[in-house]
Amino acid sequence: MRALTFDYMGIARSELAAAKAIASRAGIIEHRMVRLPDLREAADIPGFRPSGLPLTYIPLRNSIFYSFAASYAEETGAKSVVGGHNRDDSKVFADVSPEFFSSLQRAFWTGSRTLRKNRLEIARPLKRLGKPAVIRLGASLGVPFELTWSCHRDSEKHCWKCDGCLTRLRGFKEAGVVDPLTGSNAEKIT
Ligand SMILES: [Zn+2]
Repeated sequence: MRALTFDYMGIARSELAAAKAIASRAGIIEHRMVRLPDLREAADIPGFRPSGLPLTYIPLRNSIFYSFAASYAEETGAKSVVGGHNRDDSKVFADVSPEFFSSLQRAFWTGSRTLRKNRLEIARPLKRLGKPAVIRLGASLGVPFELTWSCHRDSEKHCWKCDGCLTRLRGFKEAGVVDPLTGSNAEKIT
């Protein structure tokens, strides 16, 4: 198993550090960091405010990320690429839809003899789960939530005010799981 993390413009350094810590804990063979300093979120693109999408939106993000992943799969002989999108993501982003992924998989098979021979699959095991269900599943599997990062701000600690933090607080509350980062103080923070 290998992991891929994308270091794009403005990503929180703490998020990259969290990805490294989790990958290391998971005992993967290689954790590749793809540096894409010119790829930016809507918040960093002057005058670009697509309606119905958050400021963290990156234009055609998944066609870029999954192309790198498929290239990595071809290089290493991997049979599948696994993405962690949940049900809530597909309500917001067109590039998380089932149609998008089936088209992309077809394009990869067309564009690479190796990927076609290996029948590369784009797997999304969390696609039918909402965020609370993902958290409950993680808790049952022993996911080290204390190593995870949800804040959109570049800081050493979660701010508990941004969209990323608020979504995390809501998710753990709805899941009925104690977040090790907030512990029993969750109610006070909200
Ligand atoms: Zn935050």
